[in-house]
Amino acid sequence: MEEKHLILIGLILTYILVVYLFSRIGGRREIGKRRLFWISLFLTPLLGFAFFISSQHKKLVLYTEKRYKCEDCGYVFSEESECCPMCEKEGKINPLKKVDMYMT
Ligand SMILES: [Zn+2]
Repeated sequence: MEEKHLILIGLILTYILVVYLFSRIGGRREIGKRRLFWISLFLTPLLGFAFFISSQHKKLVLYTEKRYKCEDCGYVFSEESECCPMCEKEGKINPLKKVDMYMT
């Protein structure tokens, strides 16, 4: 094999490796590793990065949960109900407020 070909193959392998390493950051976003890998491989990592930036944060989607909070006693419930069960025991009727909880 000619030296020129070896350099070319080396460049292609390096390119694939760079694209592969780059695509791993896609796992943290909605776009995903695999899709980012193919976009970067065929359309260059520069375009892949543009796709990555426009793709939504996966974290926000995954770690947001609907919770129901009583503003009187401050308790947060995962189940929706007409009024706060804690306050109901004490004879008070307090409606629950829907909140988005960020899970850590
Ligand atoms: Zn309450």
